[in-house]
Amino acid sequence: MSLQLDSLRFEPFELPAGLAPLRAEVREFLRSECAGFSAVHRSNSWDGFDPEFSRKLGARGWLGMTLPKAYGGHDRGALERYVVVEELLAAGAPSAFHWVADRQSGPLLVRYGTEEQKKTILPKIAAGQACFCIGMSEPNAGSDLASLRTRAQRTDAGWVINGQKIWTTFAHQADYMIALFRTDPSAESRHAGLSQFIIDLHATDGITCRPIKDLTGRAHFNEVFFTDALLPHDALVGTEGAGWKQVTEELAFERSGPERYLSCYVLLTQLIDVLSAAASPAVLRAIGSQIALVTALRNMSLSVAGMLNDGKDPSLQASIVKEVGCSFEQGLPALAQDLVDLEPTLIDHGIDYQQVLGNLVQLAPSFSLRGGTPEIMRGIIARGLGLR
Ligand SMILES: Cc1cc2nc3c(=O)[nH]c(=O)nc-3n(C[C@H](O)[C@H](O)[C@H](O)COP(=O)(O)OP(=O)(O)OC[C@H]3O[C@@H](n4cnc5c(N)ncnc54)[C@H](O)[C@@H]3O)c2cc1C
Repeated sequence: MSLQLDSLRFEPFELPAGLAPLRAEVREFLRSECAGFSAVHRSNSWDGFDPEFSRKLGARGWLGMTLPKAYGGHDRGALERYVVVEELLAAGAPSAFHWVADRQSGPLLVRYGTEEQKKTILPKIAAGQACFCIGMSEPNAGSDLASLRTRAQRTDAGWVINGQKIWTTFAHQADYMIALFRTDPSAESRHAGLSQFIIDLHATDGITCRPIKDLTGRAHFNEVFFTDALLPHDALVGTEGAGWKQVTEELAFERSGPERYLSCYVLLTQLIDVLSAAASPAVLRAIGSQIALVTALRNMSLSVAGMLNDGKDPSLQASIVKEVGCSFEQGLPALAQDLVDLEPTLIDHGIDYQQVLGNLVQLAPSFSLRGGTPEIMRGIIARGLGLR
């Protein structure tokens, strides 16, 4: 076993100057659209659920940007999409309704969906009219996803599903779920015998969602129970038994985007505002180091975007962005508490900053879990470096 640094490259990458007008247009749109949103609302950002807002983005052509025109998309590049996502997050625009569909379900269906799935579903994603959720985790299969047990059994009538998912974000409001199920329990390895399915949540009996409240008291994720739920034969996405490979590819989209360092951006800007009146050298140093970190993370994330754009596999780099980004995002609320002597709270005392902090102090612990825990990220990084 030896350290293989060759595989660890973050090629410097700059967004083409030609994307500046798009950025300006999105920023202008968000300035007026988000003007009425409270700072706390904006600090929820990609957890903020607003179907009407997503539809407006769809009407502007800013969802499903990379999807083919033939399926309602816009045939634009991943970098154009990156610019839009960055602006949405920086503005704290409510993005949860379209988030999963735009980020990963659409691209997954382009790659593996049947012609019928593409024709019927992709146009809805691009129009901001389809909310997707991710059915991967189960009670005893989170980090160790390959141990999942929810069973999809092929019958003459279709696929019969029995089992349970957990932590399924927005399952109670979503239109579709893309889920990973075990189709062949007798397969030789745990990774074989898994398959992906698309589930129309409005048209399928036998599915029950039980919301789980988080620390803030909001219920955005769920337990989802499947009891003899019957899916049509053509609900299979991709190849039967190839679910593990498909899911692994999907996770590369999930781990490297600007959401891995901009979840707390509203807090950072508010903190700077609060401190700007009387900043000591120590405070300036602390803020300077946060700006340096977020700038480095942005460059790393852009480098991954460049690799994705060139069709390369950035799994190692994406895991590093996720891991470093999480440390940054989770550290910021703690640093804010050290720098400003104000109790975090969700109660409205007329101080935006205090409520934003109250919100993020309670949300931040979950940042390192969603999309894979630090230990799992470090394991992937170690493997990528040839150390495991
Ligand atoms: C806000 C939020 C939203 C989520 N949304 C979704 C969603 O929409 N869909 C979905 O499918 N899932 C979702 N999840 C679930 C998430 O993917 C899992 O929580 C995550 O993969 C961890 O799994 P677990 O909770 O079962 O913890 P476990 O896997 O049980 O891990 C518990 C602890 O043990 C550590 N650990 C586990 N295995 C190892 C190992 N081999 N070596 C070292 N340490 C290890 C972990 O790092 C962690 O610290 C969401 C989670 C959160 C918090």
